[in-house]
Amino acid sequence: MADIMEKIVSLTKRRGFVFPGSEIYSGIGGIYDLGPLGVELEKNIKNAWWKNIVSQRENVVGLDSAILMNRQVWHTSGHVESFTDPLVECKNCHTRFREDHLPKSKNCPTCGKNDWTAPRMFNLMFKTHIGPVEEDGTETFLRPETAQGIFVNFKNVLDTMRVKLPFGIAQIGKGFRNEITTGNFLFRVREFEMMELEYFTYPKQAEADFEYWQKERMDWHLSLGLKKENLRFREHESDERAHYATRSVDIEYNWPFLASQGKPGWGELEGIANRTDYDLKQHAKESGKDLSYFDEETKEKIVPYVIEPSIGVGRMMLALLIDAYHEDKNRVVLKLKPELAPYKVAVFPLLANKPELVKLARKIYLDLKSYDLGLIAWDDRGNIGKRYYAQDEIGTPYCITVDFQSLEDGTVTIRDRDSTKQTRVKINEVKSKLEKPLT
Ligand code: ATP
Repeated sequence: MADIMEKIVSLTKRRGFVFPGSEIYSGIGGIYDLGPLGVELEKNIKNAWWKNIVSQRENVVGLDSAILMNRQVWHTSGHVESFTDPLVECKNCHTRFREDHLPKSKNCPTCGKNDWTAPRMFNLMFKTHIGPVEEDGTETFLRPETAQGIFVNFKNVLDTMRVKLPFGIAQIGKGFRNEITTGNFLFRVREFEMMELEYFTYPKQAEADFEYWQKERMDWHLSLGLKKENLRFREHESDERAHYATRSVDIEYNWPFLASQGKPGWGELEGIANRTDYDLKQHAKESGKDLSYFDEETKEKIVPYVIEPSIGVGRMMLALLIDAYHEDKNRVVLKLKPELAPYKVAVFPLLANKPELVKLARKIYLDLKSYDLGLIAWDDRGNIGKRYYAQDEIGTPYCITVDFQSLEDGTVTIRDRDSTKQTRVKINEVKSKLEKPLT
Protein backbone atom coordinates (compact mmCIF):
# COMPACT_ATOMS: atom_id res chain seq x y z
CA MET A 1 0.00 0.00 0.00
CA ALA A 2 1.27 3.44 -0.79
CA ASP A 3 2.66 5.43 2.08
CA ILE A 4 -0.23 7.87 2.14
CA MET A 5 -2.72 5.02 2.48
CA GLU A 6 -0.94 3.68 5.56
CA LYS A 7 -1.13 7.14 7.07
CA ILE A 8 -4.81 7.52 6.26
CA VAL A 9 -5.74 4.06 7.54
CA SER A 10 -3.88 4.77 10.77
CA LEU A 11 -5.27 8.30 11.22
CA THR A 12 -8.84 7.21 10.56
CA LYS A 13 -8.53 4.37 13.08
CA ARG A 14 -6.76 6.42 15.74
CA ARG A 15 -9.14 9.36 15.49
CA GLY A 16 -12.40 7.44 15.28
CA PHE A 17 -13.33 7.64 11.59
CA VAL A 18 -13.15 4.01 10.46
CA PHE A 19 -12.82 0.76 12.42
CA PRO A 20 -12.34 -2.73 10.95
CA GLY A 21 -15.66 -4.63 11.20
CA SER A 22 -16.00 -7.10 14.13
CA GLU A 23 -12.46 -6.23 15.15
CA ILE A 24 -12.46 -8.04 18.52
CA TYR A 25 -13.13 -11.28 16.60
CA SER A 26 -10.22 -10.65 14.19
CA GLY A 27 -12.39 -8.78 11.72
CA ILE A 28 -14.44 -9.84 8.70
CA GLY A 29 -13.18 -9.47 5.13
CA GLY A 30 -14.15 -6.31 3.34
CA ILE A 31 -16.41 -4.88 6.06
CA TYR A 32 -15.75 -1.66 7.96
CA ASP A 33 -17.59 0.23 10.69
CA LEU A 34 -17.69 4.00 10.87
CA GLY A 35 -16.69 5.59 14.16
CA PRO A 36 -18.03 8.81 15.68
CA LEU A 37 -16.15 11.07 13.25
CA GLY A 38 -16.64 8.81 10.23
CA VAL A 39 -20.37 8.84 10.67
CA GLU A 40 -20.32 12.64 10.61
CA LEU A 41 -18.16 12.77 7.49
CA GLU A 42 -20.40 10.22 5.83
CA LYS A 43 -23.54 12.15 6.77
CA ASN A 44 -22.03 15.36 5.41
CA ILE A 45 -21.14 13.69 2.09
CA LYS A 46 -24.66 12.28 1.80
CA ASN A 47 -26.19 15.66 2.67
CA ALA A 48 -24.04 17.40 0.05
CA TRP A 49 -25.18 14.86 -2.56
CA TRP A 50 -28.85 15.07 -1.55
CA LYS A 51 -28.74 18.88 -1.60
CA ASN A 52 -27.18 18.90 -5.07
CA ILE A 53 -29.31 16.12 -6.56
CA VAL A 54 -32.70 16.54 -4.84
CA SER A 55 -33.25 19.71 -2.76
CA GLN A 56 -31.78 22.17 -5.24
CA ARG A 57 -33.62 20.78 -8.26
CA GLU A 58 -37.24 21.01 -9.26
CA ASN A 59 -37.47 17.69 -11.04
CA VAL A 60 -35.83 15.15 -8.73
CA VAL A 61 -37.60 13.42 -5.84
CA GLY A 62 -36.27 11.06 -3.18
CA LEU A 63 -37.04 7.48 -2.22
CA ASP A 64 -36.03 5.00 0.45
CA SER A 65 -36.88 1.49 -0.68
CA ALA A 66 -36.26 -1.71 1.28
CA ILE A 67 -33.01 -3.64 1.04
CA LEU A 68 -34.87 -6.93 0.73
CA MET A 69 -37.06 -7.28 -2.33
CA ASN A 70 -39.12 -10.00 -3.96
CA ARG A 71 -36.65 -12.48 -5.47
CA GLN A 72 -38.35 -12.04 -8.83
CA VAL A 73 -36.90 -8.51 -9.00
CA TRP A 74 -33.38 -9.93 -9.31
CA HIS A 75 -34.37 -12.49 -11.91
CA THR A 76 -36.15 -9.86 -13.98
CA SER A 77 -33.36 -7.29 -13.70
CA GLY A 78 -30.84 -9.84 -15.00
CA HIS A 79 -28.74 -9.80 -11.83
CA VAL A 80 -29.17 -13.52 -11.08
CA GLU A 81 -27.98 -14.31 -14.59
CA SER A 82 -25.42 -11.60 -15.23
CA PHE A 83 -24.19 -9.84 -12.08
CA THR A 84 -21.00 -11.84 -12.15
CA ASP A 85 -17.24 -11.41 -12.16
CA PRO A 86 -14.65 -13.83 -13.57
CA LEU A 87 -13.05 -15.76 -10.72
CA VAL A 88 -9.65 -17.46 -11.06
CA GLU A 89 -7.72 -19.45 -8.49
CA CYS A 90 -3.96 -19.67 -8.13
CA LYS A 91 -3.10 -23.37 -8.49
CA ASN A 92 -0.07 -22.92 -6.26
CA CYS A 93 -1.42 -21.05 -3.19
CA HIS A 94 -5.17 -21.40 -3.87
CA THR A 95 -5.91 -17.73 -3.39
CA ARG A 96 -8.81 -16.50 -5.51
CA PHE A 97 -8.83 -13.32 -7.52
CA ARG A 98 -10.96 -11.41 -9.97
CA GLU A 99 -9.30 -12.15 -13.30
CA ASP A 100 -9.63 -8.59 -14.56
CA HIS A 101 -7.95 -7.28 -11.40
CA LEU A 102 -4.70 -9.25 -11.73
CA PRO A 103 -1.54 -7.17 -12.18
CA LYS A 104 -0.23 -6.68 -15.73
CA SER A 105 2.36 -9.44 -15.20
CA LYS A 106 -0.50 -11.88 -14.32
CA ASN A 107 1.68 -13.15 -11.45
CA CYS A 108 -0.22 -14.14 -8.31
CA PRO A 109 -0.21 -11.17 -5.89
CA THR A 110 0.11 -13.65 -2.98
CA CYS A 111 2.80 -16.14 -4.06
CA GLY A 112 4.18 -14.69 -7.31
CA LYS A 113 3.47 -17.80 -9.46
CA ASN A 114 1.64 -17.62 -12.77
CA ASP A 115 -0.53 -20.74 -12.82
CA TRP A 116 -4.27 -20.07 -12.85
CA THR A 117 -7.45 -22.11 -13.11
CA ALA A 118 -9.77 -21.27 -16.01
CA PRO A 119 -12.06 -18.36 -15.07
CA ARG A 120 -15.54 -19.21 -13.84
CA MET A 121 -18.31 -16.67 -13.45
CA PHE A 122 -19.12 -15.89 -9.83
CA ASN A 123 -22.38 -14.16 -8.82
CA LEU A 124 -21.75 -11.24 -6.50
CA MET A 125 -25.13 -11.19 -4.79
CA PHE A 126 -25.45 -12.35 -1.18
CA LYS A 127 -28.22 -14.91 -0.76
CA THR A 128 -30.59 -14.99 2.15
CA HIS A 129 -33.95 -16.54 3.05
CA ILE A 130 -37.23 -14.93 4.03
CA GLY A 131 -39.08 -16.71 6.84
CA PRO A 132 -38.17 -19.78 8.88
CA VAL A 133 -37.77 -22.33 6.08
CA GLU A 134 -34.64 -22.34 3.96
CA GLU A 135 -35.80 -23.68 0.63
CA ASP A 136 -35.58 -22.46 -2.95
CA GLY A 137 -38.90 -20.61 -2.86
CA THR A 138 -37.89 -18.50 0.15
CA GLU A 139 -34.52 -17.46 -1.23
CA THR A 140 -33.80 -13.84 -2.05
CA PHE A 141 -30.77 -11.55 -2.22
CA LEU A 142 -29.36 -8.53 -0.46
CA ARG A 143 -29.56 -5.79 -3.05
CA PRO A 144 -26.32 -5.11 -4.94
CA GLU A 145 -27.66 -1.73 -6.11
CA THR A 146 -30.48 0.52 -4.93
CA ALA A 147 -31.69 1.22 -8.48
CA GLN A 148 -34.11 -1.72 -8.65
CA GLY A 149 -36.03 -0.27 -5.68
CA ILE A 150 -36.51 2.83 -7.81
CA PHE A 151 -37.69 0.94 -10.90
CA VAL A 152 -40.27 -1.11 -9.00
CA ASN A 153 -41.62 2.10 -7.44
CA PHE A 154 -41.66 4.03 -10.72
CA LYS A 155 -45.46 3.82 -11.01
CA ASN A 156 -45.99 4.76 -7.35
CA VAL A 157 -43.95 7.91 -7.83
CA LEU A 158 -45.70 8.76 -11.11
CA ASP A 159 -49.08 8.38 -9.42
CA THR A 160 -48.27 10.39 -6.32
CA MET A 161 -45.91 13.18 -7.37
CA ARG A 162 -47.23 14.59 -10.67
CA VAL A 163 -43.73 14.45 -12.09
CA LYS A 164 -43.16 15.24 -15.76
CA LEU A 165 -40.42 13.89 -18.01
CA PRO A 166 -37.57 14.39 -17.64
CA PHE A 167 -37.46 13.73 -13.90
CA GLY A 168 -35.29 11.85 -11.45
CA ILE A 169 -35.72 9.57 -8.45
CA ALA A 170 -32.79 9.58 -6.05
CA GLN A 171 -31.92 7.15 -3.31
CA ILE A 172 -29.17 6.67 -0.76
CA GLY A 173 -28.91 3.27 0.85
CA LYS A 174 -26.89 0.16 1.54
CA GLY A 175 -25.72 -2.14 -1.22
CA PHE A 176 -24.06 -5.53 -0.77
CA ARG A 177 -21.66 -7.28 -3.13
CA ASN A 178 -19.82 -10.47 -2.35
CA GLU A 179 -16.64 -9.19 -4.02
CA ILE A 180 -14.08 -11.87 -4.87
CA THR A 181 -11.19 -9.79 -3.61
CA THR A 182 -11.67 -6.85 -1.32
CA GLY A 183 -8.96 -4.50 -0.24
CA ASN A 184 -7.50 -1.05 -0.53
CA PHE A 185 -9.41 0.00 2.57
CA LEU A 186 -12.79 1.55 1.72
CA PHE A 187 -12.25 1.25 -2.04
CA ARG A 188 -13.60 -2.27 -2.44
CA VAL A 189 -15.76 -3.58 0.36
CA ARG A 190 -18.68 -6.00 0.59
CA GLU A 191 -21.22 -3.76 2.30
CA PHE A 192 -21.43 -0.10 1.36
CA GLU A 193 -23.70 2.89 1.13
CA MET A 194 -24.61 3.99 -2.41
CA MET A 195 -25.95 7.28 -3.76
CA GLU A 196 -27.91 6.65 -6.95
CA LEU A 197 -30.00 8.78 -9.24
CA GLU A 198 -32.24 7.29 -11.91
CA TYR A 199 -33.03 10.12 -14.30
CA PHE A 200 -35.99 9.25 -16.54
CA THR A 201 -36.05 11.01 -19.88
CA TYR A 202 -37.35 10.92 -23.45
CA PRO A 203 -35.40 8.33 -25.47
CA LYS A 204 -34.38 10.95 -28.02
CA GLN A 205 -33.09 13.21 -25.26
CA ALA A 206 -31.13 10.52 -23.45
CA GLU A 207 -27.78 11.19 -25.09
CA ALA A 208 -27.94 14.93 -24.34
CA ASP A 209 -28.96 14.21 -20.74
CA PHE A 210 -26.08 11.78 -20.42
CA GLU A 211 -23.68 14.59 -21.36
CA TYR A 212 -25.47 16.94 -18.94
CA TRP A 213 -25.08 14.55 -15.99
CA GLN A 214 -21.45 13.87 -16.80
CA LYS A 215 -20.72 17.55 -16.39
CA GLU A 216 -22.96 17.98 -13.35
CA ARG A 217 -21.30 15.12 -11.53
CA MET A 218 -17.76 16.25 -12.35
CA ASP A 219 -18.64 19.76 -11.11
CA TRP A 220 -19.92 18.27 -7.86
CA HIS A 221 -16.67 16.43 -7.23
CA LEU A 222 -14.70 19.60 -7.85
CA SER A 223 -17.02 21.64 -5.62
CA LEU A 224 -16.31 19.27 -2.72
CA GLY A 225 -12.59 19.85 -3.07
CA LEU A 226 -11.33 16.88 -5.10
CA LYS A 227 -8.32 17.92 -7.14
CA LYS A 228 -8.92 18.45 -10.83
CA GLU A 229 -5.70 16.69 -11.77
CA ASN A 230 -6.87 13.56 -9.93
CA LEU A 231 -10.14 13.26 -11.85
CA ARG A 232 -10.94 12.24 -15.40
CA PHE A 233 -13.68 10.66 -17.51
CA ARG A 234 -13.27 7.23 -19.05
CA GLU A 235 -15.66 5.78 -21.60
CA HIS A 236 -16.25 2.04 -21.22
CA GLU A 237 -15.50 -0.32 -24.07
CA SER A 238 -18.53 -2.29 -25.22
CA ASP A 239 -17.30 -5.51 -23.57
CA GLU A 240 -16.94 -3.92 -20.10
CA ARG A 241 -20.42 -2.44 -19.84
CA ALA A 242 -23.01 -3.86 -17.44
CA HIS A 243 -25.67 -6.04 -19.06
CA TYR A 244 -28.26 -3.23 -18.95
CA ALA A 245 -26.19 -0.35 -20.31
CA THR A 246 -25.66 0.99 -23.83
CA ARG A 247 -23.20 3.60 -22.69
CA SER A 248 -21.10 3.95 -19.55
CA VAL A 249 -18.61 6.60 -18.56
CA ASP A 250 -16.70 6.44 -15.29
CA ILE A 251 -15.48 9.42 -13.37
CA GLU A 252 -12.10 8.05 -12.42
CA TYR A 253 -9.83 9.10 -9.59
CA ASN A 254 -6.08 8.67 -9.51
CA TRP A 255 -5.86 6.23 -6.60
CA PRO A 256 -2.33 6.14 -5.09
CA PHE A 257 -2.60 2.45 -4.13
CA LEU A 258 -3.49 1.22 -7.61
CA ALA A 259 -0.36 2.75 -9.11
CA SER A 260 1.78 1.13 -6.41
CA GLN A 261 0.20 -2.29 -7.14
CA GLY A 262 1.41 -2.34 -10.74
CA LYS A 263 -1.99 -1.24 -12.11
CA PRO A 264 -2.88 2.06 -13.70
CA GLY A 265 -3.59 4.57 -10.90
CA TRP A 266 -6.89 5.54 -12.46
CA GLY A 267 -9.91 3.65 -11.15
CA GLU A 268 -13.66 4.17 -10.89
CA LEU A 269 -14.98 6.69 -8.42
CA GLU A 270 -18.46 7.06 -9.93
CA GLY A 271 -20.23 5.32 -12.80
CA ILE A 272 -22.63 7.03 -15.19
CA ALA A 273 -24.70 4.67 -17.34
CA ASN A 274 -27.39 4.93 -19.99
CA ARG A 275 -29.63 2.06 -18.85
CA THR A 276 -32.09 2.77 -21.70
CA ASP A 277 -35.63 1.44 -21.12
CA TYR A 278 -34.21 -1.99 -20.25
CA ASP A 279 -35.24 -2.17 -16.58
CA LEU A 280 -38.71 -0.66 -16.90
CA LYS A 281 -39.52 -2.85 -19.92
CA GLN A 282 -38.28 -6.00 -18.20
CA HIS A 283 -40.28 -5.28 -15.03
CA ALA A 284 -43.39 -4.40 -17.05
CA LYS A 285 -43.09 -7.67 -18.94
CA GLU A 286 -42.52 -9.89 -15.91
CA SER A 287 -44.94 -8.17 -13.49
CA GLY A 288 -47.65 -7.59 -16.06
CA LYS A 289 -47.98 -3.98 -14.83
CA ASP A 290 -47.97 -0.96 -17.10
CA LEU A 291 -44.75 0.93 -16.36
CA SER A 292 -45.07 3.48 -19.14
CA TYR A 293 -45.41 7.25 -18.88
CA PHE A 294 -48.30 9.04 -20.54
CA ASP A 295 -47.10 12.14 -22.33
CA GLU A 296 -49.83 14.79 -22.09
CA GLU A 297 -48.53 16.76 -25.07
CA THR A 298 -48.22 13.99 -27.64
CA LYS A 299 -50.90 11.79 -25.99
CA GLU A 300 -48.50 8.90 -26.32
CA LYS A 301 -47.32 6.25 -23.90
CA ILE A 302 -43.56 6.22 -23.52
CA VAL A 303 -41.21 3.92 -21.68
CA PRO A 304 -38.55 6.42 -20.62
CA TYR A 305 -34.82 5.96 -20.96
CA VAL A 306 -32.77 6.15 -17.77
CA ILE A 307 -29.50 7.93 -17.11
CA GLU A 308 -27.91 6.71 -13.90
CA PRO A 309 -25.07 8.37 -11.98
CA SER A 310 -24.09 5.98 -9.16
CA ILE A 311 -21.41 6.35 -6.52
CA GLY A 312 -20.38 4.67 -3.27
CA VAL A 313 -20.16 6.93 -0.22
CA GLY A 314 -17.13 5.07 1.15
CA ARG A 315 -15.20 5.39 -2.12
CA MET A 316 -15.99 9.10 -2.15
CA MET A 317 -14.90 9.40 1.46
CA LEU A 318 -11.58 7.74 0.65
CA ALA A 319 -10.91 10.07 -2.32
CA LEU A 320 -11.77 13.09 -0.17
CA LEU A 321 -9.46 11.93 2.64
CA ILE A 322 -6.59 11.34 0.20
CA ASP A 323 -6.91 14.79 -1.40
CA ALA A 324 -7.46 16.49 1.98
CA TYR A 325 -4.42 14.91 3.67
CA HIS A 326 -1.54 17.38 4.13
CA GLU A 327 1.60 17.30 6.18
CA ASP A 328 3.10 20.61 7.28
CA LYS A 329 6.38 20.89 9.18
CA ASN A 330 4.93 19.82 12.50
CA ARG A 331 1.33 19.01 11.91
CA VAL A 332 -1.04 16.87 9.86
CA VAL A 333 -4.01 18.74 8.41
CA LEU A 334 -7.12 17.32 6.80
CA LYS A 335 -8.09 20.16 4.49
CA LEU A 336 -11.70 19.08 4.13
CA LYS A 337 -14.24 21.67 2.98
CA PRO A 338 -15.95 23.10 6.10
CA GLU A 339 -19.29 21.61 5.00
CA LEU A 340 -17.74 18.12 5.07
CA ALA A 341 -15.65 18.37 8.25
CA PRO A 342 -16.95 16.22 11.14
CA TYR A 343 -16.69 19.13 13.60
CA LYS A 344 -17.56 22.60 12.35
CA VAL A 345 -15.70 24.34 15.15
CA ALA A 346 -13.91 23.57 18.42
CA VAL A 347 -14.10 25.71 21.55
CA PHE A 348 -11.32 25.89 24.13
CA PRO A 349 -10.51 27.79 27.32
CA LEU A 350 -6.88 28.92 27.03
CA LEU A 351 -6.14 27.29 30.40
CA ALA A 352 -8.21 24.50 31.92
CA ASN A 353 -7.35 25.46 35.48
CA LYS A 354 -8.83 29.00 35.30
CA PRO A 355 -12.52 28.63 36.20
CA GLU A 356 -13.47 32.02 34.78
CA LEU A 357 -12.05 31.07 31.34
CA VAL A 358 -13.69 27.64 31.47
CA LYS A 359 -17.03 29.17 32.45
CA LEU A 360 -17.11 31.62 29.54
CA ALA A 361 -15.84 28.99 27.07
CA ARG A 362 -18.52 26.50 28.19
CA LYS A 363 -21.17 29.20 27.73
CA ILE A 364 -19.99 29.87 24.14
CA TYR A 365 -19.75 26.14 23.42
CA LEU A 366 -23.26 25.35 24.70
CA ASP A 367 -24.68 28.39 22.94
CA LEU A 368 -23.16 27.32 19.59
CA LYS A 369 -24.41 23.76 20.13
CA SER A 370 -27.97 25.04 20.43
CA TYR A 371 -27.91 26.25 16.79
CA ASP A 372 -28.01 24.07 13.72
CA LEU A 373 -24.34 24.60 12.85
CA GLY A 374 -23.27 20.95 12.91
CA LEU A 375 -21.11 19.21 15.49
CA ILE A 376 -19.11 21.43 17.88
CA ALA A 377 -16.05 20.09 19.73
CA TRP A 378 -14.94 20.91 23.27
CA ASP A 379 -11.39 20.38 24.47
CA ASP A 380 -9.59 21.55 27.60
CA ARG A 381 -6.82 18.97 27.84
CA GLY A 382 -3.09 19.63 27.45
CA ASN A 383 -1.69 22.79 26.00
CA ILE A 384 -3.40 24.95 23.42
CA GLY A 385 -0.92 24.17 20.64
CA LYS A 386 -1.58 20.44 20.96
CA ARG A 387 -5.30 21.04 20.91
CA TYR A 388 -5.01 23.01 17.67
CA TYR A 389 -2.99 20.20 16.08
CA ALA A 390 -5.47 17.58 17.29
CA GLN A 391 -8.29 19.51 15.56
CA ASP A 392 -6.21 20.08 12.39
CA GLU A 393 -5.73 16.34 12.07
CA ILE A 394 -9.48 15.70 11.98
CA GLY A 395 -10.19 18.66 9.72
CA THR A 396 -11.97 21.05 12.12
CA PRO A 397 -11.96 24.32 10.13
CA TYR A 398 -12.06 26.74 13.09
CA CYS A 399 -10.98 26.82 16.72
CA ILE A 400 -12.32 29.40 19.15
CA THR A 401 -10.19 30.22 22.18
CA VAL A 402 -11.31 32.09 25.26
CA ASP A 403 -8.34 33.89 26.82
CA PHE A 404 -7.79 36.57 29.44
CA GLN A 405 -8.58 39.36 27.01
CA SER A 406 -11.98 37.70 26.45
CA LEU A 407 -12.83 38.43 30.08
CA GLU A 408 -11.99 42.10 29.60
CA ASP A 409 -13.41 43.02 26.20
CA GLY A 410 -15.82 40.21 25.26
CA THR A 411 -13.77 38.98 22.27
CA VAL A 412 -12.35 35.54 21.43
CA THR A 413 -9.83 34.35 18.86
CA ILE A 414 -10.92 32.32 15.86
CA ARG A 415 -8.10 30.27 14.36
CA ASP A 416 -8.31 29.19 10.76
CA ARG A 417 -7.19 25.58 10.18
CA ASP A 418 -5.44 26.05 6.85
CA SER A 419 -3.63 29.36 7.39
CA THR A 420 -3.34 28.95 11.21
CA LYS A 421 -4.10 32.70 11.36
CA GLN A 422 -6.05 33.97 14.35
CA THR A 423 -8.56 36.79 14.24
CA ARG A 424 -10.24 38.49 17.17
CA VAL A 425 -14.00 38.52 17.03
CA LYS A 426 -16.69 39.80 19.40
CA ILE A 427 -18.41 36.88 21.14
CA ASN A 428 -21.82 37.93 19.85
CA GLU A 429 -20.48 37.86 16.28
CA VAL A 430 -19.00 34.35 16.45
CA LYS A 431 -22.10 32.59 15.18
CA SER A 432 -22.53 34.81 12.13
CA LYS A 433 -18.79 34.47 11.33
CA LEU A 434 -19.16 30.69 11.37
CA GLU A 435 -22.25 30.75 9.21
CA LYS A 436 -20.33 32.72 6.60
CA PRO A 437 -17.07 30.75 6.57
CA LEU A 438 -13.85 32.73 6.40
CA THR A 439 -12.48 30.70 3.49
P1 ATP B 1 -15.84 -1.89 -10.11
O1 ATP B 1 -15.56 -1.93 -11.59
O2 ATP B 1 -14.86 -1.07 -9.32
O3 ATP B 1 -16.11 -3.24 -9.51
P2 ATP B 1 -18.58 -1.39 -10.70
O4 ATP B 1 -18.45 -0.97 -12.10
O5 ATP B 1 -19.04 -2.75 -10.35
O6 ATP B 1 -17.21 -1.09 -9.93
P3 ATP B 1 -20.91 0.15 -10.24
O7 ATP B 1 -21.80 -1.02 -10.37
O8 ATP B 1 -20.84 1.17 -11.31
O9 ATP B 1 -19.43 -0.34 -9.90
O10 ATP B 1 -21.19 0.82 -8.82
C1 ATP B 1 -21.44 2.18 -8.64
C2 ATP B 1 -20.49 2.77 -7.63
O11 ATP B 1 -20.57 2.08 -6.39
C3 ATP B 1 -19.03 2.70 -8.02
O12 ATP B 1 -18.69 3.79 -8.85
C4 ATP B 1 -18.34 2.81 -6.68
O13 ATP B 1 -18.28 4.17 -6.24
C5 ATP B 1 -19.30 2.08 -5.77
N1 ATP B 1 -18.89 0.68 -5.56
C6 ATP B 1 -19.11 -0.37 -6.37
N2 ATP B 1 -18.61 -1.49 -5.85
C7 ATP B 1 -18.04 -1.14 -4.67
C8 ATP B 1 -17.35 -1.85 -3.65
N3 ATP B 1 -17.19 -3.17 -3.71
N4 ATP B 1 -16.91 -1.17 -2.57
C9 ATP B 1 -17.10 0.16 -2.47
N5 ATP B 1 -17.75 0.89 -3.39
C10 ATP B 1 -18.21 0.25 -4.48
